Amino acid sequence: MKDGDCLFCKIIAEEIPADVIFDRGGVIAFRDVNPQAPLHALVVPKDHVRDAAAVDASHGSLLVELIGAANEIAEADGVDASGYRLVLNVGADAGQTVFHLHLHVIGGRPMAWPPG
Ligand code: AMP
Repeated sequence: MKDGDCLFCKIIAEEIPADVIFDRGGVIAFRDVNPQAPLHALVVPKDHVRDAAAVDASHGSLLVELIGAANEIAEADGVDASGYRLVLNVGADAGQTVFHLHLHVIGGRPMAWPPG
């Protein structure tokens, strides 16, 4: 199901261009337009899901697909050995700006913890 006002739904529908690096099954991934590290990709479900707070038991296989895609992207970009971060921002305090579930895959440099 698509949300006509959703930016990522428009990318999935190829109405807005993106640097797509993964497209299989129920998920697609593209490079973040404002990368925070040498690798910064977003893995998103093709069906519109608002965010991680909207995930329920019916999304179990989707979550496996999302994380599996993220792991493959990290390997393809050569950061699987050095390490990478997978992030789901939920809501205002986390800085969520796009309300279509997306898993950030960030790597290629050392990262601090906790995040600012
Ligand atoms: P979040 O803050 O978790 O909602 O992350 C949204 C991410 O989407 C940000 O890192 C943005 O840089 C990224 N973004 C926004 N518009 C685009 C776009 N057209 N193509 C790729 N990434 C985008």
